[in-house]
Amino acid sequence: AKRVYFFGNGRADGTAQMKDLLGGKGANLAEMTNLGLPVPPGITITTEVCKEYFQLGQQFPEGLWEEILEGMKKIEEVVGKKFGDRKIPLLVAVRSGAPVSMPGMMDTILNLGLNDESVEGLAESTGNERFAWDSYRRFIQMFGNVVMGIPHEKFEEILEAKKEEVGAKADIDLTAEDFKDIVKKYKEMVKRETGQEFPQDPYKQLEMAVRAVFDSWNNPRAIRYREINKIPEDYGTAVNVVAMVFGNMGDTSGTGVAFTRNPSTGENEFYGEYLKNAQGEDVVAGIRTPQPLRKSQKTDESQVSLEEEFPEVYKELERIRDILEKHYRDMQDIEFTIENGKLYMLQTRTGKRTARAAVKIAVDLVKEGLITKEEAIMRIDPSLINQLLHPMIDEEDKKRAIAEGRLITKGLPAAPGAVSGKVVFSADEAVEMKEKGEKVILVRHETSPEDIHGMHAAEGILTARGGMTSHAAVVARGMGKTCIVGAETITVDYDRQEFRVGDIVVKKGDIITIDGSTGEIFHGEIKTIPANISGEFEELMKWADEIRDLKVRVNADTPEDALQGRKFGAEGIGLCRTEHMFFNEDRIPVVREMILAKTKEEREKALKKLLPMQRSDFKAIFEVMDGLPVNIRLLDPPLHEFLPKTEEEFEKTAKEMGLSVEEIKKRAEELHEVNPMLGLRGSRLGIAYPEIYEMQVRAIIEAACECKKEGIDVKPEIMLPLIADDRELAELKKMIDRVAAEVFVETGVEVPYQVGTMIEIPRAALIADQLARDAEYFSFGTNDLTQMTFGLSRDDAGKFIGKYVEKGILKGDPFMHIDENGVGQLIKIAIEKGNKTRPGIKTGVCGEHGGDPRSINFFQQIGIQYVSPSPFRVPIARLAAAQAKI
Ligand code: PEP
Ligand code: MG
Repeated sequence: AKRVYFFGNGRADGTAQMKDLLGGKGANLAEMTNLGLPVPPGITITTEVCKEYFQLGQQFPEGLWEEILEGMKKIEEVVGKKFGDRKIPLLVAVRSGAPVSMPGMMDTILNLGLNDESVEGLAESTGNERFAWDSYRRFIQMFGNVVMGIPHEKFEEILEAKKEEVGAKADIDLTAEDFKDIVKKYKEMVKRETGQEFPQDPYKQLEMAVRAVFDSWNNPRAIRYREINKIPEDYGTAVNVVAMVFGNMGDTSGTGVAFTRNPSTGENEFYGEYLKNAQGEDVVAGIRTPQPLRKSQKTDESQVSLEEEFPEVYKELERIRDILEKHYRDMQDIEFTIENGKLYMLQTRTGKRTARAAVKIAVDLVKEGLITKEEAIMRIDPSLINQLLHPMIDEEDKKRAIAEGRLITKGLPAAPGAVSGKVVFSADEAVEMKEKGEKVILVRHETSPEDIHGMHAAEGILTARGGMTSHAAVVARGMGKTCIVGAETITVDYDRQEFRVGDIVVKKGDIITIDGSTGEIFHGEIKTIPANISGEFEELMKWADEIRDLKVRVNADTPEDALQGRKFGAEGIGLCRTEHMFFNEDRIPVVREMILAKTKEEREKALKKLLPMQRSDFKAIFEVMDGLPVNIRLLDPPLHEFLPKTEEEFEKTAKEMGLSVEEIKKRAEELHEVNPMLGLRGSRLGIAYPEIYEMQVRAIIEAACECKKEGIDVKPEIMLPLIADDRELAELKKMIDRVAAEVFVETGVEVPYQVGTMIEIPRAALIADQLARDAEYFSFGTNDLTQMTFGLSRDDAGKFIGKYVEKGILKGDPFMHIDENGVGQLIKIAIEKGNKTRPGIKTGVCGEHGGDPRSINFFQQIGIQYVSPSPFRVPIARLAAAQAKI
């Protein structure tokens, strides 16, 4: 098979479709070449070669080198220079490129082909001695670091010493003579560090560089990145060898990166940054702060945009932007270099973006006629929606904070959301603190791939350096973390574990708030308000609603949650857990009274107190859900959650109930269960103490009747939890109908209601045909169903389930993604059997899986009619349901 693919002069061997073979970079360089865009010529060594290389124990396969040499010949022909030539040398960039982008993970070597002789030739042929020697020292530095493994600092020390010696503030101030001296010192240092001379043979350099790119596929950073992002180990990387173009040739040159649309807001505006007289890595590395691409992007007058500085190049870039967007039908992230006023494209790829931007861009592209609604929906990863729902800063509280002088400084708003946390300065510390349950903000000069785990652990990330495309910005955006970069006024002092802005000092452990939408950094905590959702989001959701079959309800136990769910588009309540209504300070004593009651009379006394509370709860929820079904589950309290535990609680309960502590303890002991999850839970409570469920049914129906009188359209559904047997269900159904009939007589109002059952126990799934005689609907409680099918305690599994996933015994946590094979089969059986008795029986899922996109896809396939997740996952479920249909 062909191992080396050529591109140049308007023709390429490869295409954008060949990402697996050529890597993302190589495939898109080929595509841009074929589109007639100005791409310097080059070759791509395939990912297959990388695999062979490792199979052969890090050896080049036979014949590879000859193919590379052939490719180099073609590059030479196009450029009209020779690799290794002393007078007018061809130089190349060697760049990695995996099938999926791995930002900052793999290595790039620029200016390869330079040596002690050709540097003179380069100086002469370009008439630019400083440029030639700067290029050479950059090359030694990159090659020495990436290929020869010499720490970056060794080079920095020499460079800094030189700057100090000649009184230069920045690299820009160094002269050709300075660089000559730096090169000399670099080479001496390389010899000292490695015992080898810096390689002078360009072909040797090329061979070493290609190897280094392959080897870097397996460096620990890359492995870690693949782990976190679930990128297969066996993809391998391609290697691109591309003719150099120079952005560091002087003031008519430069280099930049841009997004074809704003990656933060999604606004249809060209957005990017560039540096004059610089080489590619300078922009990304965050060493110098770049200038804006467009005039209107400027935030202060001292900036000079590319549009002003290079108007012709800017026009050309805009033309290319248009071609790329029409061609790829998506927002692109591009790299370009200007060499003596001429523009070259070095890369294009699908641009990373915030969730907000993703939605806006997808919706805009539909309106621009570039993609279909279905495509737009498929492009949004449902989990991204979490980011749209991020809290934003409370403006009032912010004003107060500013008045109190708590605004510390400002950086670039790299990724939205407002978060507070304790300041830490290292990734490891972020992880440690997070494990202790602390919220942290990771503060760094700039981040690197070594910081990834810390970025994951942190609530937000703040860096002193770098632009909107720096490592921190790109990675945080991808993770959906709040992030501020380039807060230039900040001095980070790792030694003293503090950062300073003027005379403000913020120490490790101090709390700060960062606003990733404005770039503002505050002392202390600032209130946040829930996200508000854009018009485009609503539009996308409307399309999703048109497409999906699955209905989406919400799990809500309070009027507030119900309202939130309704605002997010829920079509009813799928589960109202009545025991959660008792989780508050006023009610716990009454509930305890009910639980600890020795006699029916005692219990009824407590229930009398609870009835009006429950009635008003239900009424409030019915009001909010006017016109929509509300599925209320009768009490399912794992008893241990409600019993007093501490000495203090015993004393308090004793006092409240007018009993002695001993008596309370004794009663609690009697009620103690070895295995509460399988104990007196759910409908068993209704069988053992009918008066409890009777009270609840009465509260529900009374509330419904009151609402009906007030003109509210109520659709109550009464659901029995943890049913295992048809006679158990029949008995409780009879009770419900009796109590409802009583209330109808008492109130003179009638309200239609339904009675259904949860399917949470495998036995219930197996006898679903019998259950469907009394149950008008099934709601699958997949939390318990998973627990009971696996025999895996949902409260304890967390401690060891990770081991199962690690060892590959389980593909994922079955409490997160539904186990299609086992639990899924039970659901299928239950649907089938239920339909035999009651054709078209209503079915829903109210376990956690109802908000999980992967599980939703499965539910769609097996004919579930609705899912019911927690409020913030309602939009996720709506989108996932549409995707499941497409
Ligand atoms: C379930 O078991 O899936 C369910 C929804 O009920 P709970 O989580 O309250 O046990
Ligand atoms: Mg349950």
